[in-house]
Amino acid sequence: MTGSIAATLPRLHCPPAGLSARPDPARGPDPTPGLDPTASPDPTPCPDPAPSPGAAIAMSAEQAHYLGSVLRRRPGEQVRLFNAGWGEWRAEIVSLDKRGGTWRALERLRPPAAEPGPTLLFALLKRDATDLLVRMATELGVSSLQPVLTARTNAARVNLERLRAIATEAAEQSERLSVPAVAAPARLDLLLGAWPPGEPLLAAVERLATPVRDENPVAVPGARPGSLLIGPEGGFTPAELDALRACPFVTLISLGSRILRAETAAVAGLVSLQAARERWGVGPQATAPEASPDSAGR
Ligand code: SAM
Repeated sequence: MTGSIAATLPRLHCPPAGLSARPDPARGPDPTPGLDPTASPDPTPCPDPAPSPGAAIAMSAEQAHYLGSVLRRRPGEQVRLFNAGWGEWRAEIVSLDKRGGTWRALERLRPPAAEPGPTLLFALLKRDATDLLVRMATELGVSSLQPVLTARTNAARVNLERLRAIATEAAEQSERLSVPAVAAPARLDLLLGAWPPGEPLLAAVERLATPVRDENPVAVPGARPGSLLIGPEGGFTPAELDALRACPFVTLISLGSRILRAETAAVAGLVSLQAARERWGVGPQATAPEASPDSAGR
């Protein structure tokens, strides 16, 4: 099958059966507050060995429901399965019912690849704005998302399963191999207090005199992708700005003279960051599809 035909097949993130990022009503609240911004990008690295051509792959009940009831796919039809550890595989649906099912691996379309990207810390927004921000940030390559509680945050609750499902769908659509981690909300002061030393954090602050600079600490050769912090609709308080200025790992950045909505600021900040890193040749490496079925398999 040529790459262009394979590209039309539906794409599903394939964590190990039972570890799906799609909503699972039976799962309780997430116990993990805060993210490690130095952690690997995929929250569900697959412990199973990568498939080989012909291998059977178990499908969870959630995956079978999504494939059969939402995408209306049937046995004999093909999909693309991916995760950061396996790369991307063309696979055929062998069986499918409400308890689960099986795929058969056909050929590897892309090898596994690291997808390093920035961590986005954002003051929790209202539901629709948060959903949009998670979708856009995933498309723009973040490796993890950290909702933050600030003094002026005007939303207190978040449905993490819903956000993880949105991130999974955005990863499927944008041809990523990894799905960004979405952490439980954490207070800004606690996050700053536990921040790994030496890990640069860019804090976007409106009405600053200095623009984003190419020489900022995440855009120098060899630098890690870094982290970006976006404040709430009401902005950071003077005390929060003082706390940010007092942290040696924080650089305050401007995103221009206009005052942007928080979700627009997140997109502008991520794009500026990527552009600065790409100018220095430290941006993400694209992974090309594999040349032919002959080169597939491991
Ligand atoms: N209420 C604030 C005001 O009127 O000054 C504006 C807050 S803005 C809607 C929400 C967040 O987006 C800010 O906390 C900041 O992180 C980011 N932001 C918006 N515009 C920005 C800009 N021009 N430069 C840097 N950050 C910006």
